[in-house]
Amino acid sequence: MKAAVFHGPRDIRFEEVPRPELNEGEALMRIKACGICGSDLHTYREGLFLQLGLPIEQGRILGHEFSGEIVEIRGEMPSVKVGGRYTTVSMGGNAEFLRITPQIASRMIPIPDDISFEEAATNEPLATSLHAVNLADPQDDQVLVIMGAGIIGLGILQCIKARCKARTIVVDLSARRLALAEQLGADFTINASQEDAVARLKAMHGAAELSLLESAESNIDTVFDCAGATAHFKGTTVLEQAIGLVRQNGKVIVVAVFERKIELDVNVLVRKGIQLVGSWAWTPADFVQAMALISTRQIDRKPLITHRFALEDASQAYETQIQANEAVKVVLTP
Ligand SMILES: [Zn+2]
Repeated sequence: MKAAVFHGPRDIRFEEVPRPELNEGEALMRIKACGICGSDLHTYREGLFLQLGLPIEQGRILGHEFSGEIVEIRGEMPSVKVGGRYTTVSMGGNAEFLRITPQIASRMIPIPDDISFEEAATNEPLATSLHAVNLADPQDDQVLVIMGAGIIGLGILQCIKARCKARTIVVDLSARRLALAEQLGADFTINASQEDAVARLKAMHGAAELSLLESAESNIDTVFDCAGATAHFKGTTVLEQAIGLVRQNGKVIVVAVFERKIELDVNVLVRKGIQLVGSWAWTPADFVQAMALISTRQIDRKPLITHRFALEDASQAYETQIQANEAVKVVLTP
């Protein structure tokens, strides 16, 4: 079968690899769409999170945000049928076929007829966004700031909008991503490549950076860190900005992964009584709820799919996904 194989940083090759062999009680999925995830990019750029790739003899097959059609079942696999369209989560989606074990099948959910494979492939990152929003538990009268308008940040915006009337502010460096945030209902956007986002937020919502003796006056209830820090990042991290900006007893939800350790003034966290919450992936219930939000059209994922590539062009696809200015979600269509 055809596959895009990761050999090392910035080295993904389109190759012929053995088609998976099925054991009794397993199924074969023909992958129809697979998104490139931020975590795949950490692997592609720096060789990090290798465990998220499916090991094969030549290297690893990345990709865990996929959807496809079951083309074969060996023996019995209840709850799954040949010809059925599904999304699930596993490793190795950057390939023509994937072996579906009973464990993978247990997380599989059917794709409604009127939802495309591409939209369904964005269910996994939407579930990640939904998980973060459930942790934030936003209310109608709150102010929420989303730092970083990639697929996760924009998904967080969509989940907040689907749920309540909270005021949402989105910060990013890319005009294209911010335009998309506005299209998806952001109440205000700030381009941090053109102005000091922290200064602007303070002007709008009150000063919040305080010493141990001062009190904070911000009315920002929650800040989502969807930016993290790259291996070579220098300066003030978004997390440090978030802790400075959020109100007393507010929440900072960290969804991004960090490629390195960072410095933080923990006294600010303590003094303000901030709830610093890590949000990792999703629960099975989030995964199902995300698809419900898509299929009931409360959330439209189509505008987030900015690029499509054939598996042959996987290398170009990864290079495109790195261009944060231009790309939101790049999808491979094997
Ligand atoms: Zn992902």
